[in-house]
Amino acid sequence: MFNARRAFVVAVAICLSTLTARAQINPGHLTGIVKDAQGAVLPGVTVTATSPALLGAQSVTSEANGEYRFPSLPAGTYTLTFELSGFQTLAAEFLDAALAGKRHGFSNVRDTLEEVHKGMSKAYPCGAGLGLMGVATDGDVALCHRFAGSDEHKLGSVFSGVDHSRQDEFLLKHHIANKTDCSTCWARPLCAGGCYHEAHTRYGSTVEPNLHYCEWIRAWTNTCLEVYGALADKKPEFLAQFD
Ligand code: SF4
Repeated sequence: MFNARRAFVVAVAICLSTLTARAQINPGHLTGIVKDAQGAVLPGVTVTATSPALLGAQSVTSEANGEYRFPSLPAGTYTLTFELSGFQTLAAEFLDAALAGKRHGFSNVRDTLEEVHKGMSKAYPCGAGLGLMGVATDGDVALCHRFAGSDEHKLGSVFSGVDHSRQDEFLLKHHIANKTDCSTCWARPLCAGGCYHEAHTRYGSTVEPNLHYCEWIRAWTNTCLEVYGALADKKPEFLAQFD
């Protein structure tokens, strides 16, 4: 079943490869979904396509569901770049709304503010294999919905239960302390190495940290820290919701 999903995975991998990615496409459109290291969709990301086949560059912005679409491109080899400018605009809007006592629906900022406020230091990038699992139609249980149906990432079955020895082995192997490439990174407490599925798609192993994400993750984390600092200074009561 996992193989049957591969066409989808490859299509998404173009956009998941963060700051730069190469894509060979046919005449027509190019689409994808932008996600962060935890696999959450990212709206407001400026995606720019450049190619010898193009005069100049084409840019689009990811939608609320993270999707972006270049409707008409000539055949060629493309480099995609993903920039935070749209994301930072939304973060600035979020800050303005919070300072004005209004609600803003950009949950990516809110979630990171909560993590910062609570002083989170993550051992794992997300709940996959920990408190969250994905179930395939045959009842097999895997790390998360993205791995549902993958025998390699199976952690049990709804009929026989979770294989706790396999789960323990997974958690031990994927603990942030074992990701030595991340050991000196200041963003590590919030990133924890990034999405397992992205690592599997990019490097063929869930154990690898998403080092191609780092510049993006650190820029985004820095933006959220700036928002947090501004709120702590000017509207500390907003942060009290996270107490
Ligand atoms: S080094 Fe990169 S992947 Fe590792 S924690 Fe830092 S930003 Fe995340």
